[in-house]
Amino acid sequence: MTNTIHHFIGGQHVESTSDRRSDVFNPATGEVQARVGLASIAEVDTAVASARAALEGWKNSSLATRTRVLFAFRELVNQHKDDIARLLTLEHGKVFSDAQGEVQRGLEVIEFACGLSQLLKGEMSENVSTDVDSYSMRQPVGVVAGITPFNFPAMVPMWMYPIAIACGNTFVLKPSERDPSVTVFCAELFAKAGLPPGVLNVVHGDKVAVDRLLEHPDVAAISFVGSTPIARYIYETGTQHGKRVQALGGAKNHMVVLPDADMDLAADAAVGAGFGSAGERCMAISVLVTVGNAADKLLPKIQERIAVLQVGNGLDPASQMGPLINKAHRDRVAGYVDQAEKDGATILVDGRPLKVPGHEGGFFLGPCLLDHVTTSMSCYREEIFGPVLSVVRAATYDDALALIHGHPYGNGTAIFTNDGGAARKFQHDVQIGMVGVNVPIPVPLAYYSFGGWKQSLFGDLHMYGMDGVRFYTRNKVVIARWPEPRFRGVDLGFPQNK
Ligand code: NAD
Repeated sequence: MTNTIHHFIGGQHVESTSDRRSDVFNPATGEVQARVGLASIAEVDTAVASARAALEGWKNSSLATRTRVLFAFRELVNQHKDDIARLLTLEHGKVFSDAQGEVQRGLEVIEFACGLSQLLKGEMSENVSTDVDSYSMRQPVGVVAGITPFNFPAMVPMWMYPIAIACGNTFVLKPSERDPSVTVFCAELFAKAGLPPGVLNVVHGDKVAVDRLLEHPDVAAISFVGSTPIARYIYETGTQHGKRVQALGGAKNHMVVLPDADMDLAADAAVGAGFGSAGERCMAISVLVTVGNAADKLLPKIQERIAVLQVGNGLDPASQMGPLINKAHRDRVAGYVDQAEKDGATILVDGRPLKVPGHEGGFFLGPCLLDHVTTSMSCYREEIFGPVLSVVRAATYDDALALIHGHPYGNGTAIFTNDGGAARKFQHDVQIGMVGVNVPIPVPLAYYSFGGWKQSLFGDLHMYGMDGVRFYTRNKVVIARWPEPRFRGVDLGFPQNK
């Protein structure tokens, strides 16, 4: 019997009535372990109606009530960290320790949201005019929808709903249909923490569900994370329907290594950031830009490290890298290596023949290291989203910077050097949203905000941190006077401060 994954609407599991279903695989074995119903328009409408019905009560609940529910949720997620991580490994494939790290980073956003009473403070100015005061407040936008990718099924939704809900909104989450169980488990925990029914709803689905959310008149705002073509579509369609939209897209993150860098540190970083989570991270390093003679010192060290990497089932504690999400994606990633070889790249490490004993049906691809990659090759131009690290050799720092600036994506980047002046120049010059200095994956902490530039983000506000609070609230300004007799009398002039 294959397990069926249900929606979570109005605080209850709701079986999908749709006749459209999608398989959920265990990527380590290749077996179908569950099926998920893909919502019809009517099912999405039910989820939005549930969020709409819960809105009045939740947005009028006191900050103290909301804070207590958020703290209780934080405790439950912390207690169930390993349960969430196990579910995540089973459906996504990433190794268990990496899944634990993902849950921890999501938990940090919940912890940030626990400070909602501080975050939602407005401003106040006394006597802006004689006996007139002015103050501002942040109010929720209403029903918010979140649409999330497969690669961080716990953390990316947690970038959104804890802050949106802390701000007094209600939420409809449409997770990736490829690994949907984690979001339902977390929504159950939130309900156990005391969240009223309907404040957080999970509806599974594909384009049909997403399109309905984009046009639904009761959805006020959309937070999206996924690939760039879909992010652009979400931004354009959502804003055409009058919604506030933030849409984070794909990436092609360059790591620049200057000749003076600590090459052991840089090799550790390149292997960790290139092949961690099998390269299925939007902050993965996929291009290594070696400057001057850095490649000669660095590449042998990277090869040594790849040679001892353990690829296997993510639940095996010995595994350092798991499989890819499904067979189609695995084959697509391997196709980029095939094409790079035809285009003249040097395949320094070839992960294509890898077989994991006992897991012959799994969606595995070993780490691939490609040297002498040029900017015209598809492995350089496009986001691969797999364990493929392309090396581009640049003569100078300026050439390295020009490469980054010539690429359409602008999510993350890193520089490895021991020269403080060069690092400082890079962090100032580079046209990228998140920058690491001797840190390969510069994911901002929960109290900063996450977002790329260029085609890695559509919209103006980044995700979580104070940008999250700004996105999920509207600012209201009040100017108040408590009239005294001397102010009475009709005045048609424009209000002036006296
Ligand atoms: P995806 O764009 O295929 O899917 C993301 C979401 O959009 C899913 O919920 C999916 O069901 C939905 N969707 C897919 N096709 C759609 C369509 N035609 N119309 C409407 N909705 C559609 O992305 P993915 O493969 O799940 O995730 C990987 C991508 O996400 C990569 O490009 C990665 O870089 C990106 N990503 C970006 C960030 C970031 O913060 N910038 C973080 C994580 C992942």
